[in-house]
Amino acid sequence: MFRKLPASLTPTEESPGLRVKGGTKYSRSQGDYVCGGCGAEDHANGDTDVKALVDDYTANHGPAHRGGRR
Ligand SMILES: [Zn+2]
Repeated sequence: MFRKLPASLTPTEESPGLRVKGGTKYSRSQGDYVCGGCGAEDHANGDTDVKALVDDYTANHGPAHRGGRR
């Protein structure tokens, strides 16, 4: 069953997760997450910051809340 995708790509408490939008020649990449595990959220702009945000989410949030690690 598919949920209707939100018009905005920004994650919300109702729809937690990690969203990354690649930059173009005219815009910087953007990243946002809302963690479904602990409710933390963060936002970043620019390749370097977005990469750090993805690493943070992957290492500390989202899937990291499941399984043995926390
Ligand atoms: Zn978390």
